[in-house]
Amino acid sequence: MAKDFRETLYTVDAEGRRKWVYSEFVPGRFTIPRALVAYFLMLIYLVLPWITIGGMQGVHLDIFNRRFVFFGAEFWATDSYFLFLILVSMAFSLFFFTALFGRVWCGWACPETVFLEFMFRPIERLVEGSAAQRRRLDQQPWNLEKITKKALKHGLSAFFAWVIATTALAYFIGRDPLLEMMSDWPHKNPVPFAMTLAMMGLMGFQFGWFREQFCTVLCPYARFQSVLMDSNSVVVGYDVVRGEPRGKLRKREEEGAATGDCIDCGLCIRVCPTGIDIRNGLQLECVACTACVDACDSIMDKVGRPKGLIRYDTEDRLLGRSAVRKILRPRPVVYGVLLAICLGTLTYLLSVRQQSEFQVLRGAQDQPFMVLDDGRVSNHLHVRVTNKSSAEDSYTFSVQPGEIELITPLVPFTLQPRQISTTPIFLNFKPDLLTDGKANAEVKIESASGFEAKQIITLLGPGK
Ligand code: SF4
Ligand code: SF4
Repeated sequence: MAKDFRETLYTVDAEGRRKWVYSEFVPGRFTIPRALVAYFLMLIYLVLPWITIGGMQGVHLDIFNRRFVFFGAEFWATDSYFLFLILVSMAFSLFFFTALFGRVWCGWACPETVFLEFMFRPIERLVEGSAAQRRRLDQQPWNLEKITKKALKHGLSAFFAWVIATTALAYFIGRDPLLEMMSDWPHKNPVPFAMTLAMMGLMGFQFGWFREQFCTVLCPYARFQSVLMDSNSVVVGYDVVRGEPRGKLRKREEEGAATGDCIDCGLCIRVCPTGIDIRNGLQLECVACTACVDACDSIMDKVGRPKGLIRYDTEDRLLGRSAVRKILRPRPVVYGVLLAICLGTLTYLLSVRQQSEFQVLRGAQDQPFMVLDDGRVSNHLHVRVTNKSSAEDSYTFSVQPGEIELITPLVPFTLQPRQISTTPIFLNFKPDLLTDGKANAEVKIESASGFEAKQIITLLGPGK
């Protein structure tokens, strides 16, 4: 076992130069399930802004107008507590699944893994061949073959990067304005055009060059995931008890040495996209991609040993400290309860969410009330109404107690879909309603679509 594996980065040499990872591809039992998950996630990403649900774009993140559409439901800036709850739920679900299954997110669902391993690396393998062929191609001088293969690889990658970038813009700009812009010349829409190019450039940098460095050097999740896990979290690991002492097959046969199941072939290292040796134990660089599981299983098949020398298991079992898998532990239970609270709150708030909002605001601050000619007091207020629905709605206002007269210029007050507007109201009342210059009143709003809400306000007038 390497002693310095925690102090060194496998992809950087002693002089600090990048060591390029030419990972081999060995199919196995996880290849198809991972591919199915990855292509399903890609499909969701690529399709959502182009489908229509409830007459609206499937998902639309209109940051400029602070309007967000998810599966036929519209959210506005005033609904930001939903965003907060969604983000907190996502964080707790990450904590929960990490405590149970280690870095399952990294290996199966992270965009970096999904796009690199199932889009850009397959293009590279298709054009440039196996790991050995790719290494040879990179080392050979520039000639027609190298120029053709590199141009084809980067050309195909650029096309798919364009598809990803355009879809990202459709999420934010909206598909209809985007299609309109795309039917025009780029110089007529320089900002979206520049954003597309910038995203393509970023993807070229990330998926073409930076690659595993993002996971090993930059990703914050890689850094804090170790505090979310314990020795009973399921991780991709090497069975030290079964594998050690490792020894070459020939040596083992010649000398009859008592060695473990690991034949020290190194295939688990050669398939690793981050270039690490999983036999050293759990490492920050491991993205739990299962490539080494499939590779080692193929070797175990060849040497007639049971599969699973590298497998999904708990650290305790892999190190021979325990034979049982403890699922019910304080850590996942606490994360699970917090996740359930967040999801429960989110579901409840969504179920009681109204399609309109209203708010009563005071009018002129410097003159909170007026005394009318007939001796009554008048308060000038503003009512701000938001129609979040996709249909026109008409609103009427009333006030309690009944002796207060409500005057408003617009009856009913009509708003178009997704319109926010303010209307003035005047509340006139006799001064004997006041106590120390103040009185409470309740303003009620009702709409033709059935929306109802109330707000208690304080009326002001001449006091002691
Ligand atoms: S692939 Fe399996 S047998 Fe080969 S070095 Fe890795 S752990 Fe040992
Ligand atoms: S050690 Fe295995 S699971 Fe971890 S990143 Fe490398 S190949 Fe993937």
